[in-house]
Amino acid sequence: MSYDARRSAESLIRGDVKGIEPYEPILPLEALSELSGVPVNKLVKLDGNENPYGCSPRVRRALAEYPFYHIYPDPLHRELQKPLEDYVGVGQEYIVAGSGSDELIDLILRIFLEPGDKVVNCVPTFGMYPFSTAVCGGRTVTVPRDKAYNVDVDAVKSALDKRTKVVFIASPNNPTGNVTKSDAVLELLKTGVIVVVDEAYYEFSGQTFALLVPANPNLIVLRSFSKWAGLGGLRAGYGIFPSNIAELVRRIKMPYNVNAAAMIAMRESLADIVYLRENVKDIIDERKRLSSMLKRQGVLTPLPSEANFILCRVAKGNARKIKQGLEKQGIFIRHFDTPLLKNMLRISVGKPEHSDALVAALAKWEGG
Ligand SMILES: *Cc1c(COP(=O)(O)O)cnc(C)c1O
Repeated sequence: MSYDARRSAESLIRGDVKGIEPYEPILPLEALSELSGVPVNKLVKLDGNENPYGCSPRVRRALAEYPFYHIYPDPLHRELQKPLEDYVGVGQEYIVAGSGSDELIDLILRIFLEPGDKVVNCVPTFGMYPFSTAVCGGRTVTVPRDKAYNVDVDAVKSALDKRTKVVFIASPNNPTGNVTKSDAVLELLKTGVIVVVDEAYYEFSGQTFALLVPANPNLIVLRSFSKWAGLGGLRAGYGIFPSNIAELVRRIKMPYNVNAAAMIAMRESLADIVYLRENVKDIIDERKRLSSMLKRQGVLTPLPSEANFILCRVAKGNARKIKQGLEKQGIFIRHFDTPLLKNMLRISVGKPEHSDALVAALAKWEGG
């Protein structure tokens, strides 16, 4: 084969890859510090639904003492299987861990999508679903939720056709904070399409579909250690899959996807559930307190939430300006301005002092 100078490397790139919109990640602490002029340890970071209490002290200790970082981790993460089985309440043949639940979203789509296959996305919701769909060569079919942000089951069913492989449902949903009722999920399961219920915030809502997986060949439930266990930085998640699909996920994943540190962190978190549940309880209590403070103040109108964040309408002022105003004081929240999330803000629930700082800073807009 002779070298053809005209056939540049550019032309070898997969046609659809050039059109992929980048996933918009949140900024790292250092960038937020530079942006606001506030030192890293004084930042009030309420933009990533991260756990303000951090990880379990057992995780820190075990990571510091681990002697085998030079040895490759177990691709089947055997030491995690029994603790996960006990925690979830289904047999370990259904469970596979991943480098965050984000990785499992990608692996699911790799298993099911052929080029041009469709994935239903119930917006507004988590941005990873359309992102990974595009990366895997699929097409996203957008189905808006109803006014209360519930999944519009009839609209989803009407959107299904022979090319539809997967429907994603985050419950509690990010950024709206509401859970999906079980009749909606059961109704979608009847269609035969793969229903992925993303339970990244399960520990804050207490509602799960995981126990239905063994009896439903088209149900997948995703879970994460990022939010309740404070392990966002280590990438630790898992899925509950029908056993034939679990077997395929194990087969096609990168062998060392769950690194040694993430494995230790998941194991130690599961051994320290009482401690972590206290933090979850504090966050839920704080969610209620922050919500009533915001209601009383009247600048933002908080929506009900079953997660560790609160979506707010803006009653007085403009969401973007409020976000930018708070930024100057080192307080970071998420801003949305899409047709379904017009002039809205999402506030992660932090410690009580974070809520107090936020409400104090919002006083500036009280006059309207
Ligand atoms: C945060 C979040 C995740 C990400 O979980 P990781 O385990 O950190 O990858 C997944 N789904 C939803 C809906 C989220 O909000």
